[in-house]
Amino acid sequence: MSNRELVVLGTASQAPTRHRNHNGYFLRWDADGLLFDPGEGTQRQMLLAGVTASQITRICVTHFHGDHCLGLPGVLQRMSLDRVAHVLEAHYPAKSQEVFARLRHASLFHDTLALTERPVHSDGVVTEVPSFRLEARTLSHPVPTVGYRLVEPDGRRMLPGELAARGVTGPDIGRLQRTGRLSVDGQLVTLDQVSEPRRGQRFAFVMDTRLCDAAFELADGADMLVCESTFADADAGLARDYGHLTAGQAGRIAAESGVRLLVLTHISQRYEPRSAQQLLGDAAAAFGGRIVLGADLDRIAVPKRARRR
Ligand SMILES: [Zn+2]
Repeated sequence: MSNRELVVLGTASQAPTRHRNHNGYFLRWDADGLLFDPGEGTQRQMLLAGVTASQITRICVTHFHGDHCLGLPGVLQRMSLDRVAHVLEAHYPAKSQEVFARLRHASLFHDTLALTERPVHSDGVVTEVPSFRLEARTLSHPVPTVGYRLVEPDGRRMLPGELAARGVTGPDIGRLQRTGRLSVDGQLVTLDQVSEPRRGQRFAFVMDTRLCDAAFELADGADMLVCESTFADADAGLARDYGHLTAGQAGRIAAESGVRLLVLTHISQRYEPRSAQQLLGDAAAAFGGRIVLGADLDRIAVPKRARRR
C-alpha cells in the first residue's frame, strides 16, 4: 500500500446520482490526511471507504456551492464525536468566511474540535509542513473559488551502488546526507557522487472553473491532477455558460502542464449511467498520458516519483 494515495469519496457535480455521491476526496500523504471538498454524504462515504475521522488533519474547500461543502457539518461533528484530539486546519476562500461559519455551526452538538481556520486571502503558499507546501490559486467560477496543489520539496535519492563502491555504510550515510561531504579512509566522498536529484511529488486539485491560467499553474508538473470535467466536449457551450470545464479542456490542461496522471471527476448527471465513457475519449484526444475516470470509492496511488538523472 502506498503512503500517498487518493481515496475518491464522491464524483458527482450538482446533484448526486445512483452511482455517484456528491464530491469528496481524501488524500493520504504520509502522516497527513487532507479532505478536499466534502459534499453531502461524505461522512457515510468515508465509512464505506475505510477512512476514519481521526485520519483527517486538514480540510480544503474550493468554494461553497453545496456539492463541495454540504458534508462539512457532518464531518466536523463526527470528528468531535470521535474525540479527535489533534488540531484540524481548514482552508477555504476568505471571501466566503461567513458561509464556513454557518456550516461549522449548522446544528447543535458538543463541540470539542481543535479547529484552526486558515482562510485563503490571496494566491500563493497557504501553509508549509516538512512533507509538502500547500498552495492556492484563484479560479474562474461565478462564486469565490480557489484550487490547490501540494508540492513536496525536491530532495536527493541515495544510490546504493555508489555508496558501496566508496565504502560508505551505516551511520556514515546519514552523516553524509546532513553534511554533504565525508572522508572515508582518507578519500573525500561528496553527496553529489552518491546520490541523484529527486524531484518532489506534486498533487493538484482543480475544481469548478472555466479554462484559466490558474488551472495550468496549479497543474504544472503534477504527478496527479484531479480535475473537474463536468461536461463532454459536445456540451462546451454549457460548460462556458456555467463556468465549468469539458473533459477535453481537462485533457488540455494535463497535456500542456506535463501532468502524469489525470483523474476526471465532478461529472454531470446528464452522462449517467453509461455515457460518462465519452468523457474519457474527449480527454484522451487531448492528453496522451494516463487518465482515470473517477468512480466513487476508487483508491488511486499517487504515481511514484519519475526517475530522471
Ligand atoms: Zn461543483
